[in-house]
Formats: sequence, C-alpha cells, structure tokens
Amino acid sequence: MTAQLIDGIALSKHLRAEVAARAAVLAERATPPGLAVVLVGEDPASAVYVRNKVRACAEAGVRSVFEEYDADLTEASLLARIDALNADPAIHGILVQLPLPKQVRADKVLESVAPAKDVDGFHESNLGALLAGRPRMVPCTPAGVMRLLDHAGVTIAGAHAVVIGRSNIVGKPLSLLLLQRDATVTICHSKTPNLAEVCRMADILVAAVGRPGLVTRDFVKPGAAVVDVGINRVTDASVASRLYPAGHKRLALFQSKGSILVGDVHPEVEHVAGALTPVPGGVGPLTITMLMANTLKAARERVAG
Ligand code: NAD
Repeated sequence: MTAQLIDGIALSKHLRAEVAARAAVLAERATPPGLAVVLVGEDPASAVYVRNKVRACAEAGVRSVFEEYDADLTEASLLARIDALNADPAIHGILVQLPLPKQVRADKVLESVAPAKDVDGFHESNLGALLAGRPRMVPCTPAGVMRLLDHAGVTIAGAHAVVIGRSNIVGKPLSLLLLQRDATVTICHSKTPNLAEVCRMADILVAAVGRPGLVTRDFVKPGAAVVDVGINRVTDASVASRLYPAGHKRLALFQSKGSILVGDVHPEVEHVAGALTPVPGGVGPLTITMLMANTLKAARERVAG
C-alpha cells in the first residue's frame, strides 16, 4: 500500500484565492483586511516564518504591517505597542511571532492582544470559547489540519483520533476540534506509556511533537489517515540516514545542503497509512492560509459591527 499524499500546497492555493476574492469585496465595500506581524529579536526560523506570512498576505489581498524590534525590547514597550495596534481601526489581526526573548513573558503578551484581533487564537478567551463548543478565533494549525482531513475525504465522525502532543497551540485545540466533529479522541504526550500501541488504534493519527521520525510504521493501523504537524530541521547525518535509505532524493538533498526539514512521521509510514500529509508541503502551508482566513474573518466582523 502507498498512502494518498494530502497536498497542502494545492489546497492552500485554492483557499488563498477564495480569501483574496472575499478580501477584494470587503476592500471595495469598506476596508482591506489588515494584519500586523510583530517580530522581536533575530531568531532565524522566526524570520523565515514571518517572511512567509507577509508574502502570503500579499497573495491573499491582506494588507500587512510588519513591525520588527531588537531582541532587547522591554516587555512594557511591547505591551504599549500592542495596545496601539489594538486601538488601530485599520488593523484587524495582530500576530506576535513566538518565541519571544526571555525578558518578555509570552503569556502576558498573548493575553494583551484584543480577543477580536487574536488571529492566532491563543488568547484564553478564544481557547475557552473553543472548549465551550462556540469557536471564535480558532488556532491556525489545528484549523488547517481539519481542512486537510476534509479535503482528503477522511471521515471524522465516529473515527478514533489519536493526537500525540498536548500543547495549547496544536495538540489541545486540535483534540477539541476533532471532538466537536464527533471523533473519539485520545490525547498522548511525553508521559504516555505504550505510545505505539495506543497510536495503532487510531483511524486518524496526528503527530505534533517535534521529534524527527518518532512515528514509525508500528504506530500505524493499516489504512489510517496520518497527519504530520512536526517541523524539524535535521542537521545530524545519522538522523537523516535513519529516515531515508541510501540513494533517496531527500538524503541527497541533505548531503548537498547540510540540513533538511522533516516531520515527526517516519517516511516508511507511507507504506502503511491510507493517507498522509507530507513535510514539507502538508500542514505548514495551511497554517499560514488559516491565518489569512482568520484575518479576513476579523475584518468582516469588525465591518459588520
Ligand atoms: P510543544 O513542544 O509545545 O509540544 C510538544 C508535545 O509533544 C508536548 O505536549 C509533549 O508532551 C509531547 N511529546 C514530547 N516528546 C514526546 C514523546 N517522546 N512522545 C510523545 N509525546 C511527546 O510543541 P508544539 O508547539 O505543539 O509543536 C509540535 C511540533 O509541531 C513541532 O515540531 C513544531 O515545530 C510543529 N509545528 C508545526 C506547525 C505547522 O504549521 N506545521 C505549527 C506549529 C507547530
């Protein structure tokens, strides 16, 4: 068996065109959706993510304002800046790129974003609304995973979904979304015994851990839908060769570049799963697309009053 690869790039392209069409209508009628992207410090991965987000805004008809600050910015200065963005009527969404430098408390900053502009869906009131079954702003990666499953025609109601990872930005909100769609949900984490055995019960298996190739074929029930949320940069040759056999084109890419992006799911799972999201090109593009969709939603709600 070779799994159906769920193409996140193609789905994103389609959804971004939909957002762009709606954004153009809103711009004509009232205002273009506006997103403020705030980056503090020089983390190279964050810089790449932020660049991709700003580029996606241009594609989706979202006006972006990029604010970049030195790594020594104080928490008070950042909070003051967020207050100003909260009050700015041309800004409908505010994204603060994580991680933040040590002197700035991330939870304090995330709670300072006005819930209506919290397009990342990380504010406690938005997470609470999701828990209560009345989702408002849904975190982008979990929302993207649901879109991918629907796009691939995976039946969610009645399925047993196992989610590995319990973070507030991926594992927990995704588990709630699956539960809301009538899946039976098991959440696993670093202290779960017999992980492979639990995962093997899954019709839908989601890995959101941050460990290259953790999910091997013995974790997967034949035919299951497997969603790989993990994004791991591998720089160690022994890890790369544990994932890919000699002669594989991804191993060749590693050898020429010195690093490679991989997921939490071992590539051998392709031979067991029914459907699988690739890394790169699976969940990642959807995360950014859902950020665009949330910004459009925030702008439309603002215009509707
Ligand atoms: P996190 O570090 O906050 O959470 C990781 C979770 O994995 C924890 O709940 C932990 O209990 C669990 N875990 C750790 N080791 C484990 C093990 N050996 N067995 C079982 N569970 C284990 O991470 P996060 O922010 O939720 O991100 C998870 C992964 O998803 C990372 O690779 C991150 O880069 C990636 N990510 C991707 C996107 C995307 O757009 N594709 C978005 C967000 C995060």
